[in-house]
Amino acid sequence: MDNLVERFLRYVAVDTQSSEESTSSPTTAKQHNLAKLLAEELRAMGASDVSYDAEYCYVYAKIPATDGGKQTKTIGFLAHMDTSPEVSDEGVRARIVKNYDGGDIVLNEDGPIVLRLADFPEMAAYAGKSLIVTDGTTLLGADDKAGVAEIMTMAAHLLAHPEISHGPIAIAFTPDEEVGAGVDNIDLDAFGADYAYTVDGGVLGELEYECFNAAQATIAIRGRSVHPGTAKDRMINASRVVMELDDMIGADERPETTEKYEGFYHLTRMEGETDRASVTYIIRDHDRALFEEKKERMAGMVAEINRRYGEGTATLTVKDQYYNMKEIIEDGNYFLVENAINAMEKLGITPIVQPIRGGTDGARLSFMGVPCPNLCTGGGNFHSRFEFACIESMEKITELLLALATQ
Ligand SMILES: [Zn+2]
Repeated sequence: MDNLVERFLRYVAVDTQSSEESTSSPTTAKQHNLAKLLAEELRAMGASDVSYDAEYCYVYAKIPATDGGKQTKTIGFLAHMDTSPEVSDEGVRARIVKNYDGGDIVLNEDGPIVLRLADFPEMAAYAGKSLIVTDGTTLLGADDKAGVAEIMTMAAHLLAHPEISHGPIAIAFTPDEEVGAGVDNIDLDAFGADYAYTVDGGVLGELEYECFNAAQATIAIRGRSVHPGTAKDRMINASRVVMELDDMIGADERPETTEKYEGFYHLTRMEGETDRASVTYIIRDHDRALFEEKKERMAGMVAEINRRYGEGTATLTVKDQYYNMKEIIEDGNYFLVENAINAMEKLGITPIVQPIRGGTDGARLSFMGVPCPNLCTGGGNFHSRFEFACIESMEKITELLLALATQ
């Protein structure tokens, strides 16, 4: 359909990896290369109000309503241009495996690097399909350039067929999603959507409107360093205090021991000496009340440390990061989920509605006033050299976007 695969291959060839270490916006200047390319292509295909934010690296465009379009509200579609900092996307050499046999795929004879069915048993479901894979030395970037290519293909199709009735459509491509900063500098007036979908999920049929509530807690510990030879009853070893604090968290409250709707405390960083230590946790729960309770319990643990070792031993800093968009979606916006489910069923796609054990740009957008569930892209094994995209899934998802844009 309208060069979907060519587009995708063109976009994954552009290195757009974002960076956790950088404090600039965007976190890497190279993301501008894809932004410029997309803005040019949108202009060439005749989109309206195409704007490229040369400072913060966002691309916005509109497709005005056509005759007969019933919708007066503007529906938006977003995808992110950056790729994960976890694996390089420099010099992606994508390859198409036609009529996949459902077994192992040798990505690279050197090594060799093999996408093994034993490691990824879900690959069996793709037997007979065409897959786009890497040469095993980089990630693919289907996350989220599959979403970008699908939105661009939808736009090209609608602009080439003005006889198709639809309401106003808004498009945005964003930077730095992978480092949690995808909507930090978004211009909602330039975007202009009343509601939207991020196209940033995985397997065909995925539809998500529930995510975690999220906070980060950092605890700084002040110890009392004394020569170990004369330390009895005097030393407070800050590193040990961190371990004591961590012991207060149940073993069944960690990411590695929880699933589905179970929340957790995840120790993400620690450093310590005798004199000083610090530890960082991320706190996650789908349920807002349980989320608040988890934060209170963390405050209680820190208070207990101070009871044991003296006031001022432990200092807690908690920062909320994002909230569960379900609150916003279920408050008068559930039609977005219903519309997506209906459109999928008409296209023969089985909807897979599941809570995300993470967050999305859509979650933050929802709380900024643009309710925004997340749709599938047709890719898999994201953030990995074993990443792939299924061409048949991508084609179906482009049809899904067209159905949502034209209802
Ligand atoms: Zn993504």
